Amino acid sequence: MFSEMSITIARARDTCAAVAFLFNRTMLQRLFERIESKTDELVALTRELIRFPTVNPPGDAYLPCAEHVGRRLAARGFTVEYLRAEGTPGDTDRYPRWNVIARIEGSRPGPCVHFNSHIDVVEAGSGWSVDPFEGTVRDGRVYGRGACDMKGGLAASIIATEAYIETFPDFSGAIEISGTADEESGGFGGVAWLAGRGYFSPPRVDHVIIPEPLNKDRICLGHRGVWWGEIETKGRIAHGSMPFLGDCAVRHMGAVIEAFERELFPALQPRRTTHPVVPEGAKRSTMNINAIHGGQSDDWTGLPAPNVPDSCRMVIDRRFIPEESLEGVKAEIGAILERLKASRPGFDYSVSDIMAFEPTLTKRDAPVVTAVAEGIRSLFGREPDYILSPGTYDQKHVARIGKLYDCIAYGPGILDLAHQPDEWVGIDDMVDSAKVMALAINRLLTGKALR
Ligand SMILES: [Zn+2]
Repeated sequence: MFSEMSITIARARDTCAAVAFLFNRTMLQRLFERIESKTDELVALTRELIRFPTVNPPGDAYLPCAEHVGRRLAARGFTVEYLRAEGTPGDTDRYPRWNVIARIEGSRPGPCVHFNSHIDVVEAGSGWSVDPFEGTVRDGRVYGRGACDMKGGLAASIIATEAYIETFPDFSGAIEISGTADEESGGFGGVAWLAGRGYFSPPRVDHVIIPEPLNKDRICLGHRGVWWGEIETKGRIAHGSMPFLGDCAVRHMGAVIEAFERELFPALQPRRTTHPVVPEGAKRSTMNINAIHGGQSDDWTGLPAPNVPDSCRMVIDRRFIPEESLEGVKAEIGAILERLKASRPGFDYSVSDIMAFEPTLTKRDAPVVTAVAEGIRSLFGREPDYILSPGTYDQKHVARIGKLYDCIAYGPGILDLAHQPDEWVGIDDMVDSAKVMALAINRLLTGKALR
């Protein structure tokens, strides 16, 4: 009797498991089919976004581009907000810094997944074989400025979200999609400004995915730190025929460069992170001398006046690894300048910050990381690559201002193509990454995987 009953229970359990498996399987297939059926729409949307010349600087066409995203999502039941970051760098009536945030609530309360894309692009530059603002489709690719960085990613996240809510109309929690300004110039009129107003913090938002072009099978956990500084050497103006009566600030700057070559660059070279920064060269601590200016300004016409320059300014772009600190990076350069001051007659200097951010790093076991990793595993049948970006992006603002540490970059496109002529994004890559994004939404909202 007992054994018969246990057999029946076991059979019933097997049947339940089989039904659950079939249901899951079907829902996964339905979700993927729905995304695939939207391929033409995905391409069309990417092209539409590329056609807004949202070039930054100066920060053009932000509002029509934001409205294009907002109108589309409002028609699908999203609540849409347009927010101008008034008073932020570059914001004028001619070039207002507009952002769009769209949110849809599920049928039950739950966590919120947010997809954040910047809508600005860098200038087209020369060397294009197609119109950079046309969105030409050729050989399975969409070409145009911003195709991979990152209007293709924005379009993929929109299609992923739409397919998800059509497949699971009864979903719980909330999904947000934002198109934000000024990432290319530091993000101050975009994510930084919004984060300062609570748009990137719990309880409003729990998980953030930034679809930057890091390849469809890689998860970007964060980025190196950056310090942009300006060093000024000081001199004394005098007649150029009698330089001994003055003090040449450019020669003092020459001594700074020499000291950097002798002490700083050799010290940076062996400093290597254990984190998976790509490309390989960016695993080391680096510094670029961005600009030097001393003496007569370079916009003069006619002949120069014979002056000994009393000021020389150098802009440095120091990128540092997670094992270093901003404080240590500044102190290292400060010590070199102090040694010069002690040893070189007449040497005087000042240092000022232009911009500084500590390295940003999301933990590998953070929910958004495991959710996207599961999506990559499910679609491609292999482990994702975990990487760190050599340069910064808006994740820093989500972490340092929003205090939200469950944030990564994940999106279609090849990083090396960003800012290049003939930038493109692969249509298959956009479709695949939309599938991974939809799987991640499901995992983060339900706590369960679709297999
Ligand atoms: Zn970008």
